[in-house]
Amino acid sequence: MITKLIFLIREFFFPRGCALCGEALLDVEEAWYGLCQDCRKSLSGETGERCSGCGKPLISEQGRCLQCREEENRSGERSCARITVIFPYTGQYRRLLGAYKFGKNPALGHFLEEKIRSAADSLLPPSPTVPVSAVLCPVPPRPGKIRKTGWDQVEYLAKLLERDKLPVSRCLKRLPSRSQKTLDREHRLTNLKGRFIAVKKIPREVILFDDVITTGATLEACAAALKAAGAERVYGIALFYD
Ligand SMILES: [Zn+2]
Ligand SMILES: [Zn+2]
Repeated sequence: MITKLIFLIREFFFPRGCALCGEALLDVEEAWYGLCQDCRKSLSGETGERCSGCGKPLISEQGRCLQCREEENRSGERSCARITVIFPYTGQYRRLLGAYKFGKNPALGHFLEEKIRSAADSLLPPSPTVPVSAVLCPVPPRPGKIRKTGWDQVEYLAKLLERDKLPVSRCLKRLPSRSQKTLDREHRLTNLKGRFIAVKKIPREVILFDDVITTGATLEACAAALKAAGAERVYGIALFYD
């Protein structure tokens, strides 16, 4: 409660307002999330059938999307058993990530961290005997990327998860590689081959998490590195899908 109050006091002296509509944030909850109640409610994501491979909404397919099927035909079974994605990277959702990432708004981290927590719960439902079986692992940023935005916004979420007593391990290290942005799907996979290495004892079950997923090549490369280093099962969560 005291930590939440600090955000309200900060909002009183240095008002940021709601990250999406700019309205004043008036109570503890609003200041904690950096969003007014209406905007928070409007960020409910999408419902409907999802692909069991990449987590993206299915259009007319069943089970797995066309892209996942094609890829499995081409390169066999994936290292990442299942991926959950939360928000489309469009409209207000895109603005939300922009405000968090480039506006360095830590309050929005509280909102996003809760989404990761509930996605982890639905990927691997906790039971009375095993409350949390998998260990969460942030996808490490490309070396040099931090300099551009000034902070590691995925690492900040890892800190929040740890504060909420979830098991987190930074067991991967990323070696320099070309930016994925200019590459097509196939080259994204080869560009990342061998670019992630395990640096710590690898947990048996790992849930990777990242901010945006495009082709899923980054999660797949991380999952392959974890499995090569001894992980039995690897899952993935991405807050936004492009
Ligand atoms: Zn608002
Ligand atoms: Zn898919």
